[in-house]
Amino acid sequence: MAKFKTLDDLGNITGQVALVRVDLNLPMDGGSASDVTRVEAVKPTILELAEKGAKVLLLAHFGRPGGARSSVLSTSMVQGDVEEVLGKEVMFVPEVSGPVVEQSIGILRDGDIGLLDNVRFWPGEEANDADFAKAIAAHGDFYVNDAFSAAHRAHASTEALAKLLPAYAGRAMERELTALESALGSPETPVAAVVGGAKVSTKLDVLKNLVGKVQHLIIGGGMANTFLAARGVDVGKSLCEHDLTDTANAIMDEADKAGCTVHLPYDVVVATEFAANPASLRTCNVHEVAAEEMILDVGPQATEALADVLKTCRTLVWNGPLGAFETEPFDTATMALAHHVAALTQEGSLISVAGGGDTVAALAQAGVTDQVTYISTAGGAFLEWMEGKQLPGVAALSA
Ligand code: ADP
Ligand code: MG
Repeated sequence: MAKFKTLDDLGNITGQVALVRVDLNLPMDGGSASDVTRVEAVKPTILELAEKGAKVLLLAHFGRPGGARSSVLSTSMVQGDVEEVLGKEVMFVPEVSGPVVEQSIGILRDGDIGLLDNVRFWPGEEANDADFAKAIAAHGDFYVNDAFSAAHRAHASTEALAKLLPAYAGRAMERELTALESALGSPETPVAAVVGGAKVSTKLDVLKNLVGKVQHLIIGGGMANTFLAARGVDVGKSLCEHDLTDTANAIMDEADKAGCTVHLPYDVVVATEFAANPASLRTCNVHEVAAEEMILDVGPQATEALADVLKTCRTLVWNGPLGAFETEPFDTATMALAHHVAALTQEGSLISVAGGGDTVAALAQAGVTDQVTYISTAGGAFLEWMEGKQLPGVAALSA
């Protein structure tokens, strides 16, 4: 990973205008946010800049207005939530450039915070338009990006703007990049990857990237069924992408060549219907799945074997649950793995980095959110990073 500047590289910024890209795309419930995790994530950066005497202008998108103004998608919708989390007043500015922004900067005192309107109200944002970025840059002395979750998009506020002003990674961005670097960039080996979830098709690029980088690839969830089918196992009525068995075989061949061991479950939990605690529930060897049965979780022996693999590893990157964890008892393997990972991390033998919407939910369900090394809540950006892609918003910071 190329080097990037952090807030530690800033000199005296008293009275300077900081343009700070943050993620304020909060899930809403009526007139206020149902979850303010994203605001909490950027709070340290905002307060640090304010304490150092900068005038902090927050730049964010909110929903998908498609390049036109929309009153319900104004960032003023989250102004109250931002103020509450920061414990400070925030001045709403209904533009991102021009005289209104200039006047607002005149009103803000050193250390004050302004919230610019939804940057996606202007078509130049998603078009990564240079003139649009220039108009915004004209108001700032420097740029800070603290929105890793938006870094997979080459938009004006994440890419073009970073090239027009001195650019710095905010504290949340810095933590995320450092954690990801320690997991797949220059990790302590051996490295294990757990990839689960519903389908192979959504994670093909992830799997292809990982086989060249990790020593152990542990496949669980619905996608394991496709790999099992590729090896000639009859998976009954399980979720399985039969059209991808050739692809699965190709991935296993590549893994072989790269010296990466692929681990598939050898016992599984099955049922004839997908419901909580069904009467047909049983555990069996993968070769004993009946025609009318579905594989809904990894079995206990395979789960123990996975834990043994992790004991020999120094680094783990995890995306995707091992089973249909939303429904009991098909959360068993995922919960057990989460507890093993938490214990190994706490003992100091494993660096564990996890991400993905359902994976984050599963770790929270296991109650181990604070016991793993790092959890990425970045969604799309996290997956693109797992695919080995260069993220434009990150590349622009290191330019
Ligand atoms: P993430 O959001 O962490 O990237 P995914 O969205 O890829 O994870 O996958 C999560 C989904 O996969 C969950 O809804 C879970 O129920 C489903 N899943 C896991 N194992 C199975 C299985 N054996 N059969 C059907 N669905 C499964
Ligand atoms: Mg998901």
